[in-house]
Amino acid sequence: RSREVPGLGAVVANDRSARAGQLMRRNVTRNGVGALVTPRVADARMLMYQSQAAREPFDVIDLDPYGSPAPFLDAAVQAVSEGGLLCVTCTDMGVLAGNSPETCYSKYGASSLKGRFCHEMALRIVLHSLDSRANCYQRFIQPLLSVSADFYVRLFVRVFTGQAKVKASASKQALVYHCAGCGTHHLQRLGKVTSQGTGFKYGAATGPPVGPSCEFCQQRHQLGGPIWAEPLHDLDFVERVLVALERNPGRFQTQERMRGMLSVITEELADVPLYYTLDGLSSTIHCNTPSLLQFRSSLLHAGFRVSLSHACKNAIKTDAPPPIVWDIMRCWAKLHPVKLDRLTDTSPAARILSVEPTLQASFALREDANPSSRRRGLKRFPENPQAFWGPKARAKAGGGTSPSLRPQNKRTGQTDSPRACKRFKEGTCSLGSQCCYSHEGGSPSDPPSAPPAASDPH
Ligand SMILES: [Zn+2]
Ligand SMILES: [Zn+2]
Repeated sequence: RSREVPGLGAVVANDRSARAGQLMRRNVTRNGVGALVTPRVADARMLMYQSQAAREPFDVIDLDPYGSPAPFLDAAVQAVSEGGLLCVTCTDMGVLAGNSPETCYSKYGASSLKGRFCHEMALRIVLHSLDSRANCYQRFIQPLLSVSADFYVRLFVRVFTGQAKVKASASKQALVYHCAGCGTHHLQRLGKVTSQGTGFKYGAATGPPVGPSCEFCQQRHQLGGPIWAEPLHDLDFVERVLVALERNPGRFQTQERMRGMLSVITEELADVPLYYTLDGLSSTIHCNTPSLLQFRSSLLHAGFRVSLSHACKNAIKTDAPPPIVWDIMRCWAKLHPVKLDRLTDTSPAARILSVEPTLQASFALREDANPSSRRRGLKRFPENPQAFWGPKARAKAGGGTSPSLRPQNKRTGQTDSPRACKRFKEGTCSLGSQCCYSHEGGSPSDPPSAPPAASDPH
């Protein structure tokens, strides 16, 4: 990799295994980078603490361990230079995406949730963890780029020092209230900053943002987080990466995919953490699924913003508050009636649909509802799936809001899956994409789309 990066001074390549050390030495010789790369076989934590003690910080630290990088974060946030770059890969997605919130808490200091938004929440949990560990040393993070791909997350953050700025960190984190019935979510910040003259005043946040039960379906809330509630990316940086890609065609094999994904990232609403999904909303009230264009148009007609998320192909990221989102779904259900006789009065669907919408939603298609990345035909997701964009509304069986942990952009209707990885389900598989077993959620006998609410495979 070192030959791909211009302007590089010196590289320490470290692995704890002696076998990996041999391979590194061989590769260094073979690539003729012996002057540049020093292979080391050590505990990466000791290496980083020593460099910090010797006041020889690294400008870039790239943590890419098997499984969770959590044990290395404390050393990494100290050993990176002022304004330096910290790159982190996490392959323990089972843990980060809600399969074992208690394990997630012990590793990252935050509980994960099995919401539709779980892939973006995974990014925000890792950012929370990085920032809070940096805070111990009067440091804080600035995310450059946070990428969720199938079964791993990759984060790029800069680390700075500043006692005054660290005071703002509490207000950058939030707890997540997630309704177990209908999937509505609310954020609760952990602190409050108000500007006072030329400076800032820090105080307690106020809340909670929800009552004891969900205002839409009367069920209980699950509590997750804390998560990083500030922007996931530095858009100037992402734009510069896009420009660099344009200028160097053919340099990366995955160029088209990178361009598509980064373009979606530039379209994401930076100030709206998490998202709903189209299939989640419609399966909650047991109705047909509007097309993404129809649903996005209705949000724009109502005066709100909406975007995709690179982390999920049918995400609805919007600044419309939940009452607006559900009113739009109620209007959709009026146009495409739901058979209510199959539902019990206490089901989320019955409770949501028993309320008359106050908003008159319009689903007339708008030109600006079609995102630029899609109009330009970029390769945005692994398979550029069409499932949720089509003009026809798809019929849906089943309901509920708890999704299985499936590939984030899985195309529906997929068959012949390999055997499921047991360790992945337990959150302990550290092999990521190298694993020979399937890291897809359900057993092969599961229906390919719209898993029923009560039979979550996890
Ligand atoms: Zn609810
Ligand atoms: Zn596995």
